[in-house]
Amino acid sequence: MNQTFDVVIVGGGLVGSALARTLADTQYSIALIEAQPVQAMDVSAISLENTDLRVSALNRASETFLRKTGAWQGMAQNRLSPYDTMRVWDGEGTGHIQFCADEVAEPHLGHIVENRQLQGALMDGLLGQSNVQVFTPTKLESIEKVDNAQYLLQLDSGQVLKSTLIVAADGARSWVRDWAGFETREWDYDHHGLVCAVEVEASHEACAWQRFTEDGVLAFLPLAQSNLCSIVWSCPQTRADELLAMDDTSFNAALTREFEGMLGQVTACGQRAAFPLRQRHAKTYVKQGVVLVGDAAHTIHPLAGQGVNLGFMDAYVLADELKQASKKGLSPAHPQVLARYERRRMTENLSMMATMEGFKRLFAVKTPVVRWLRNWGMSKVNQFDLLKNHLVQAAMGTKREMRE
Ligand SMILES: Cc1cc2nc3c(=O)[nH]c(=O)nc-3n(C[C@H](O)[C@H](O)[C@H](O)COP(=O)(O)OP(=O)(O)OC[C@H]3O[C@@H](n4cnc5c(N)ncnc54)[C@H](O)[C@@H]3O)c2cc1C
Repeated sequence: MNQTFDVVIVGGGLVGSALARTLADTQYSIALIEAQPVQAMDVSAISLENTDLRVSALNRASETFLRKTGAWQGMAQNRLSPYDTMRVWDGEGTGHIQFCADEVAEPHLGHIVENRQLQGALMDGLLGQSNVQVFTPTKLESIEKVDNAQYLLQLDSGQVLKSTLIVAADGARSWVRDWAGFETREWDYDHHGLVCAVEVEASHEACAWQRFTEDGVLAFLPLAQSNLCSIVWSCPQTRADELLAMDDTSFNAALTREFEGMLGQVTACGQRAAFPLRQRHAKTYVKQGVVLVGDAAHTIHPLAGQGVNLGFMDAYVLADELKQASKKGLSPAHPQVLARYERRRMTENLSMMATMEGFKRLFAVKTPVVRWLRNWGMSKVNQFDLLKNHLVQAAMGTKREMRE
């Protein structure tokens, strides 16, 4: 027999599970479908061996949002790593810029959080919620549109769900987005993002370090132990393949060189993986009862660590609009409700994507004059408090809708 829900969320990654969490305190009946089993994590003291390969730099707005859902409190606090400084420099010159939390009278700029831990905390909080049913590990296989603007969703477990509203939270290569015929603008960055946890000689000093290199960007993100960092090394695919193929000693030496030994030698590294990086943005987020959130709506270069932060704001705003609809007695799939979500999110997502694209292109230019200008510009910005404060507020997400 079919089960009917007010909202079906396809994809229980960080964004889909956060949306389900924030809708758990409403009258709506929610289904969350996630293909992969959620793997429990060893959350004892952090070490190189038991660090999640994927981490996210979460800004203050995401922290506030996740605290409201209760998921923040559900994570092992000893593994959350607050950072109070960001240091960015041009490996091809002398330009640098440094942002400090105390310059904007804040205790920190954000946290580095392990994705698996956060997803576990989000999912744990859904257990026992009477209005939320989680279908996992189960994959959505097909969708059929039937009468009265209802959708039938066929799962590979044999179950069939019925709803008027489908939320596509199924990631960058969203099957739902393609099935519904959303158009996208997209192009390859010609970069792969190599990630791995590393041990360094010196303390990371709770600083998120980022060096623009000759052919990419290298970030060292501070973990909850002062000599452990998680790196994101964006570089051309051929370079990423070489780096993946190296033995640990050669890789550590290459990484130390590329990072100019800022934290001394890289003395050990964990498992490595690389992901192709692609810019993608859906031209609309809403179509006949289907709505896109998170990476299904937009993917951007990880150089400023904003992808999931934007996704959480999508979840926050969509939930806000659905709650308003419920108060007004409107159906959650009402076109006005979904159009308001799209309007509220598209401008901010587009502006962040354009900024990241601008940075990426500016640092890809090899002409000496442009290099000189960008180094000069960075140093000037570093001396100009008002502009710096504006930039840091934007990075923390405190200029956005999620303030309190
Ligand atoms: C190298 C790298 C570093 C990054 N660093 C940062 C950072 O520091 N800060 C930041 O904000 N962002 C960062 N990002 C971006 C961030 O990882 C993504 O924006 C975020 O993971 C997107 O979450 P999501 O839930 O939208 O999608 P996903 O995490 O892709 O989740 C989609 C989920 O849908 C499920 N699914 C897919 N198809 C189906 C189906 N048919 N049926 C059922 N389930 C399905 C999948 O199993 C998956 O769990 C980084 C990205 C990369 C590549």
